[in-house]
Amino acid sequence: MTDCAFCGIIARENPADIEYEDDAVLAFKDIYPKAPVHILIVPKRHVPSVMAMEREDAEVLGRCLLAARAIGEAKGFAERGYRLHVHCGPEGGQLVYHVHVHFLAGGRTGRG
Ligand code: 5GP
Ligand code: ZN
Repeated sequence: MTDCAFCGIIARENPADIEYEDDAVLAFKDIYPKAPVHILIVPKRHVPSVMAMEREDAEVLGRCLLAARAIGEAKGFAERGYRLHVHCGPEGGQLVYHVHVHFLAGGRTGRG
């Protein structure tokens, strides 16, 4: 058991609608979507935040961006595009302290 919600999803202890998986990354639907397509892309290794990121975490975070590319292509957004958000710390709006990239696509995705 883990008290990190996203580690729980990675361990298949918590349910989630999984959209993409590889050896380093898992991606699943956000439970409270803020766009027609709203997917969270997380490294399988627990990294709390970009604010706690170490040099050895750079590769898994880069792999999250490659997963975003793959998801965009698989879902038909390779031409239209999408938004990627990373919230960092309390004033950055981070609620879950397992680093994640928000993939937002399909119409208005909250520019600003
Ligand atoms: P942030 O930490 O970047 O502000 O956002 C956390 C995001 O995770 C929110 O958009 C929230 O809806 C989503 N979220 C929080 N807990 C869960 C969960 O247990 N499962 C899923 N699928 N999404 C979650
Ligand atoms: Zn975690």
